[in-house]
Amino acid sequence: MGYSDGFVAALSQVVSTLRDEPATQVCVRIGSDTVCRSCPSLGAGGCLRYGMGVVQQDVRVAGVLGVESGDVMPWADLQQRVRDRVAPDDLTTLCEGCPWLEYGVCAQGIADLRAGQGITYEG
Ligand code: SF4
Repeated sequence: MGYSDGFVAALSQVVSTLRDEPATQVCVRIGSDTVCRSCPSLGAGGCLRYGMGVVQQDVRVAGVLGVESGDVMPWADLQQRVRDRVAPDDLTTLCEGCPWLEYGVCAQGIADLRAGQGITYEG
């Protein structure tokens, strides 16, 4: 369900690192981030596909999680914020306009997280 084989491989690597090493320090980014770096839609000015819409989405999510761009914390702490503050149904609003929303995999991921499982993305 990714944008390209390169994007899927890069995302899988990020997920593996976070899953295996939850103490990994992550930096919150409003705008393009490590995951976006391998996306064919990333241009010099940002996302060529979704433009400012995806930045506004980042702002909404950061507000819910109580974080700001540039904040650094262990992945486990950020994951706990998601667990505590985001319910599966919240994605209907938080992710409005995202073409992946209708597949339900992200809402299921949030439900799994709240049930005590970590991220389970397999690429
Ligand atoms: S539906 Fe999934 S892929 Fe889309 S913005 Fe939400 S979490 Fe990201």
